[in-house]
Amino acid sequence: MVTAFLKVGEEEPPSRLAYDNRVQPSPVAHLDGNAHRSFEEGLFWQALPAYGQLSADEFLSYRFQIKNTLSNSTPIATQKLLDFVRENAGDAFAQDVLLGLARAPMSVQITPYTLSRMDWKNPYTCPVRTQFLPLGSRLHVDHPMLTLDSLGEKADSPVPGLVHRYYDRVLFLPQSTCPVYCRFCTRSYAIGQDTQQVVKYKLEATPAAWKKAFAYIAEHPEVEDVVLSGGDFYNVAPPHVQYIGEALLNIEHVKRIRIATKGLAVNPSRILYDPAWTQAVINVANQARSRFKQVFIHTHINSAQEMTWVTRDALKVFAENGVVVRNQSVLLRGVNDTFEAMSMLVKRLGACSIQPYYVYQHDLVQGVEDLRTSLATTLQLEKQLRGVTAGFNTPTFVVDAPGGGGKRVAWSYDYYDRPTGISIFSAPSVKPGKHFFYFDPLHTLEPEVQAQWSDPAAQNVMFENALSHLHL
Ligand code: SF4
Repeated sequence: MVTAFLKVGEEEPPSRLAYDNRVQPSPVAHLDGNAHRSFEEGLFWQALPAYGQLSADEFLSYRFQIKNTLSNSTPIATQKLLDFVRENAGDAFAQDVLLGLARAPMSVQITPYTLSRMDWKNPYTCPVRTQFLPLGSRLHVDHPMLTLDSLGEKADSPVPGLVHRYYDRVLFLPQSTCPVYCRFCTRSYAIGQDTQQVVKYKLEATPAAWKKAFAYIAEHPEVEDVVLSGGDFYNVAPPHVQYIGEALLNIEHVKRIRIATKGLAVNPSRILYDPAWTQAVINVANQARSRFKQVFIHTHINSAQEMTWVTRDALKVFAENGVVVRNQSVLLRGVNDTFEAMSMLVKRLGACSIQPYYVYQHDLVQGVEDLRTSLATTLQLEKQLRGVTAGFNTPTFVVDAPGGGGKRVAWSYDYYDRPTGISIFSAPSVKPGKHFFYFDPLHTLEPEVQAQWSDPAAQNVMFENALSHLHL
């Protein structure tokens, strides 16, 4: 095997690997006639038999969305989910979903809004289905270096529900549920219900546990930033939103709060139809402003198909109240890994006054190899995307360095070897002196290299070879 090494800044040679052919230069594709501004209007959910008679007030009410969320939490719930799938995509597809459920590390939970955004005529290629419903026929063999806690969060957790990795920032996880469960969740070890494959680590998510987190933050004057995630902060009850927000703002050195939620992607009508949560967030943001502090919402939209007039109108509420919303996407194969899909997403986010902030390289989590891309795909996409829109509305492509190195800009790797799929990053201001490895998925490597990854001795040779190219 001929090995080609790339140094930082070196131009990438033309790929000899077929998997990257999907990302091709497309110089006019972003001149899309402004299609990104055309949000789907009207009663789009009525295309599905289950929602065919429902008015906007009925379908979009928060109560309806909660009550009719489909899941596999019990055998009866699973049957309901499969019946819905069968009705819209046929028996063979439903069987494929059943096989996928048996092997998935994440439980399934999908809101009616999200179900209505799926293309049930083309369910195998639908970018929304791909994110939430596993298919047995599409799963790939895991890379041997995958884990369930690839970011090493448990190791950086000084008190339950709090991750302190960066000097001046903490991640606070006040609860462990979400309105939907994403197949690719980076916290597969803790989020959602136990599955046939994974017994979940139980996050302590009670007001008593929150007090321990507040006390830790108060005792650490270096902490200026708190990210509220989970689980999803959308599932925190409005009085608790206010309580947590005020408790954090009362700590003098906390200057910024980021609220991470997928709610705007999967159940945006809550903002319009159940104002208590929104009002609580706006109240906290107003209090922050009056104290010369900031509150942001960080949402998680991965495909333009998720966004409709409901999303646009929900976003107007935050814009009118001065709450800045940013988006963090995950780069997902078959969802947003082409120039056309990513540029449409980025421009549609901009059309909703959402700032596209990050695109994450998919973490090294188990059970979802069909969704991961190579680092090479990320680098090509980043290069193509830059220039499509204003720089401040162009996302930064990052790798969350496995093992706790934090976010590194994708092209800042110290070493990347395309044939073995090994890339190495360092994080001098987070974990000085350490190196962090990322691995391209096996299905993007040549067959003989795939075979080497199943042999521990050959793995060691590949690691040593990679490390020998670093200037240590
Ligand atoms: S909403 Fe976020 S925390 Fe919840 S399953 Fe999806 S990625 Fe994980």
